[in-house]
Amino acid sequence: MTPIETTAWAILAIGALGLIILGYRQFSTIRRDGDIFQGEIALLGERLEAVRAARSSSDKVTAPWNGTRKFQVVNKREEKGGIYSFYLAPHDGKLPLPPFQPGQFLTFQLTIDGKSVTRCYSLSDAPNPEQYRVSIKRCLGPRGKPEIPPGLASGWFHDSVKEADILDVRAPAGGFSIDPNGGSPIVLSGSGVGLTPVLSMMNALVALNSRREVWFFYGVRNGEENMIEETVKEWRALNMPNYHIHICYSDPSDSDKPGEDFDHHSRVSVDLFKTLLPSNNFDFYTCGPGPMMEAIRDGLSDWGVPEKNVHDEAFIAVKKSVDVTASSVEFRKAGKTIQVSGAATNLLDLASEEGVDIPSGCCAGSCGTCQVALLSGKVKYDSKPEFSVESGCCLPCVCLPDGDLVLDA
Ligand SMILES: Cc1cc2nc3c(=O)[nH]c(=O)nc-3n(C[C@H](O)[C@H](O)[C@H](O)COP(=O)(O)OP(=O)(O)OC[C@H]3O[C@@H](n4cnc5c(N)ncnc54)[C@H](O)[C@@H]3O)c2cc1C
Repeated sequence: MTPIETTAWAILAIGALGLIILGYRQFSTIRRDGDIFQGEIALLGERLEAVRAARSSSDKVTAPWNGTRKFQVVNKREEKGGIYSFYLAPHDGKLPLPPFQPGQFLTFQLTIDGKSVTRCYSLSDAPNPEQYRVSIKRCLGPRGKPEIPPGLASGWFHDSVKEADILDVRAPAGGFSIDPNGGSPIVLSGSGVGLTPVLSMMNALVALNSRREVWFFYGVRNGEENMIEETVKEWRALNMPNYHIHICYSDPSDSDKPGEDFDHHSRVSVDLFKTLLPSNNFDFYTCGPGPMMEAIRDGLSDWGVPEKNVHDEAFIAVKKSVDVTASSVEFRKAGKTIQVSGAATNLLDLASEEGVDIPSGCCAGSCGTCQVALLSGKVKYDSKPEFSVESGCCLPCVCLPDGDLVLDA
């Protein structure tokens, strides 16, 4: 049984147990009162029916696929803030789609101008058995540097991908995710396009009518860039006392109304959490620009939040140079050997400087595209990569040599 199937069965088993307990409680209440409420029986019947339906749909859960699967763009929708959402249905028509954990991403194997390009995009909506959604922001070149080209894949998605196009997609993956059936209180915060994974988490909780305590923070410049204005209105209309939604505009425009369009004239920060949250006893999930995540991570640590409760994801890895002890790295297939010493960022950069092409994707240790076999020697990681590395292999995008090394690259 695959991990996803095991999880699906575990969720069903817990759900069924919960319903049995609920059913027992409801019937005991009914018996105690000596009065049978037709409404309660109907409700119980509906819930049992829901379990049966969930059970029968889980029987049909297809395992995540290996390699790439072809998906058709069934809808391309322009959002605010330079973002397009793409709705993807399997080209082979086989449904239901494998479920995913909200917060996970898809990896796209693209061919742009004849060049093979791999990019990851977070699933931005609740799990849906018929289609997936990703939301992609156009990545502009740095200001004042016209010689630097804008983002390749995001620009291609915006300008060239249209409805009915077919894309090669790898199965949902990634450890920055929640179990939507969990019960612990959580804080979800996203800034800019870093909203996407936490939007999927929030939508999943809302879809399940979750009673979990959820604090949701979205940071964006102003109303012109707020891609979830309508969604937030829908969440608020649910009047769920356990959902606390806070919209932060860092630079509101004159037409943005405080208290209506946004709640705070500020960025998302730990100082804001401290003024609003009843305690620090939450699991924190953050995605956004590097400096925001660094500030939140440091602030949560200063606030005494245990590291195990702090979860974040970077779309673009912050590269740190680390001093490496003198070692030789042989790229066996390329027939090249380099001597490494002093400051270095990662093995992928070292290979690229030497003209050794190792296919890569996220460059953040998440997608596994660059995984290569270690023929001899050891590597070291700054922190444990999110992707589960196969034994005898390494992820060059996030590791460095730990002594002499021979790679199957
Ligand atoms: C797990 C994960 C999830 C993600 N989810 C999302 C998501 O939901 N939505 C989303 O929009 N993005 C997401 N991303 C980011 C996405 O994968 C891409 O990194 C992003 O779209 C940029 O890719 P690109 O090909 O457009 O830009 P690239 O071509 O990779 O360029 C990136 C930047 O480098 C600059 N650049 C290009 N060439 C040079 C050069 N020679 N010198 C200096 N600078 C240069 C470009 O101007 C650009 O600013 C995610 C990333 C990860 C790892």
